[in-house]
Amino acid sequence: MAGKSLQSIRGIHDGLPAEVRVWQRIEAAARKVFASYAFSEVRLPVLEPTELFVRSIGEATDIVSKEMYAFTDQGNDHICLRPEGTAGSVRAYLQGGLTRSGTQRWFYVGPMFRRERPQKGRLRQFQQIGVEMFGASGPLEDVEMLAMAHAFLSELGISGLNLEINSLGCSACRPAYRDKLVAYLNARADKLCETCNERIEKNPMRVLDCKVASCQAELGDAPEMVDHLCDDCESHFTGLKQGLDALAVPYRINARIVRGLDYYNRTAFEIVTDQLGAQGTVLAGGRYDGLVQELGGPPTQAIGFAAGLERLAMLLAESDAAVVDVAVAALGEATITHSLQQAAFLRSAGLNVVHCGGGSAKRQFKVADREAARFVVVIGEDEMNSGVVTLKNLATGEQQSVPVNQIVNQVFA
Ligand code: ATP
Ligand code: MG
Repeated sequence: MAGKSLQSIRGIHDGLPAEVRVWQRIEAAARKVFASYAFSEVRLPVLEPTELFVRSIGEATDIVSKEMYAFTDQGNDHICLRPEGTAGSVRAYLQGGLTRSGTQRWFYVGPMFRRERPQKGRLRQFQQIGVEMFGASGPLEDVEMLAMAHAFLSELGISGLNLEINSLGCSACRPAYRDKLVAYLNARADKLCETCNERIEKNPMRVLDCKVASCQAELGDAPEMVDHLCDDCESHFTGLKQGLDALAVPYRINARIVRGLDYYNRTAFEIVTDQLGAQGTVLAGGRYDGLVQELGGPPTQAIGFAAGLERLAMLLAESDAAVVDVAVAALGEATITHSLQQAAFLRSAGLNVVHCGGGSAKRQFKVADREAARFVVVIGEDEMNSGVVTLKNLATGEQQSVPVNQIVNQVFA
């Protein structure tokens, strides 16, 4: 008896051809733009020591406290499926001994895993295109990073995206601000949701981006980091804004951007759309000057961002099906080998070719139709012996006899 068919794990999604074509378009835009800023691709492991994320992202964050796919393997090692790409990049940067090799500009594309509640735009396995820059000292690097993010999404031609920036301060100015914020929040704790209450002590800045409307209503006049920056952070933020203005990269300041991860300081930014409801952030990142040191390396200033591939794909129209230039129809057993050779020849000449698989002419024309081929090349015994084929243009219905070596010219004409 046949078994019940198996489904994928909830929140884990198959990339079928029509969707992958869109992903590839996004990746192609990323590769083109990132290469123009001299970024190189890295391919890093999906499995990492759990400890890496506890030490970097922080224990009190949503990701580490409840979203990681962490387990103990057969050798009793604590392992997890990476929830993001920055911590692993820092680990690889240190392990690869690249701290003395000058500025490193990296990008990656790959799956990330978070055990979140599955919903539109929120998957448990999703893909990120991310970039990291190690040795990024001043606001100038932030400017170029944000300009690169802007150029990447512009290349895709998505409209209605907005770049929002903020400064999260640094270890010199954040503690005093944090105290102020905690006092403000404690004074209103009874009006804030349960999650916010849990965050007041552990991660008070996260309260600022709570999605609950009644919390937001309560936080209207909350103190903001941008008003409490030390001189260094202030001039860094000014440098960033001036640079973006000079490059005509549009942005707005959003003092509520806090990022969910502990390691960020100074510049934080998101690119958002209003087309995806609550899951409107398509790209997010920031500066993380303390993280390399935190993970055992020398002081190294750094900045990065990551974009969610599936969320971006939702903003793009499905791409057309793969282009089939030519479908090869072989009439009669005796022509099969020859037709396979012709198909191979046409491919090596640069055409996209499918073979219709032999059988009746009617069946093979149906195959060509379903493949939406532009042309059918019909090879019968007579044609095979005389070195010509029948070439039919499926769009116009036009049919002609052409020598094999002229098919390519006809198809490209
Ligand atoms: P959000 O506020 O939406 O939870 P985040 O702050 O957790 O996002 P980051 O860790 O900064 O997100 O990840 C960068 C980008 O990766 C996000 O802006 C989003 O586009 C994408 N992303 C994050 N989590 C998911 C998910 N569960 N499913 C799909 N895409 C995601
Ligand atoms: Mg999240």
